[in-house]
Amino acid sequence: MDVSVEIHCGTCGSANYSLPSDASDDGLLLCNDCSTRLGSVAELKAEMMDQALSRSAEALRREIDSSV
Ligand SMILES: [Zn+2]
Repeated sequence: MDVSVEIHCGTCGSANYSLPSDASDDGLLLCNDCSTRLGSVAELKAEMMDQALSRSAEALRREIDSSV
């Protein structure tokens, strides 16, 4: 299943952000455009997991609906 997840900066709406090179769970993500702190790597992972799960659930629901 192909699920793409985008995290947008709450300040400027940009989807460009820097991942720390070591990418440990408590590393911080910064928006490339306005330098707002977007959260920790752990928070980003949790957000991506949330989005992936809700999108997969939605896709599955649509598939079930269309096959009935
Ligand atoms: Zn920003």
